[in-house]
Amino acid sequence: MTTAKKTTPPSSESGASPVVGRPVLSCPGEIQKALGFSDSEFKEKCRKCAGKVADTEIWSSKKMQEEYRKTLKDPNVKTGADVQAEVRKSLASQGYMTVTQGTTDSSGNIKVKKQKGPCAKLKEKATEIHEKVHQDHTKDLEKKHGKGTSAFKKAWNDASDWVQDEINAHAADQKFWNDFKAECKA
Ligand SMILES: [Zn+2]
Repeated sequence: MTTAKKTTPPSSESGASPVVGRPVLSCPGEIQKALGFSDSEFKEKCRKCAGKVADTEIWSSKKMQEEYRKTLKDPNVKTGADVQAEVRKSLASQGYMTVTQGTTDSSGNIKVKKQKGPCAKLKEKATEIHEKVHQDHTKDLEKKHGKGTSAFKKAWNDASDWVQDEINAHAADQKFWNDFKAECKA
């Protein structure tokens, strides 16, 4: 997962992003359990991470979706690499640097970068959830085209497929942060 980070933190934009159509968690306490936090630890995470940190992550994720969507307007963008290059270029021109927090390769192997600070575990979980979407999609493409075939490689590297996969993956990491916020209020 690549996220947009403003060299100076987004001020009014950050907390202001509207939260859209969030599915309600079927099982309260799910995130606390998944991350193995005690009640007091979870309370502390809520205090430190459910406000500005979560809102900035969600804002940044939405920004990435918007940037990915934009790349398809350029007819020269044909491959995943083209998409990534366009997104980086566009964000740089707006004064953002991009930070890679996790990757999924064409074999479906996920790497999640270790994070620092009180919200590290939550950030790593959000990245893991994001990358899992890519992994599942990679597996679907393998099923459809055969592992390692040229048809698979072509489909995996197709720009519009790449963009849709990123939009889906970012929707998943946003859902995680929104679920976390909701769990903190529960
Ligand atoms: Zn991604």
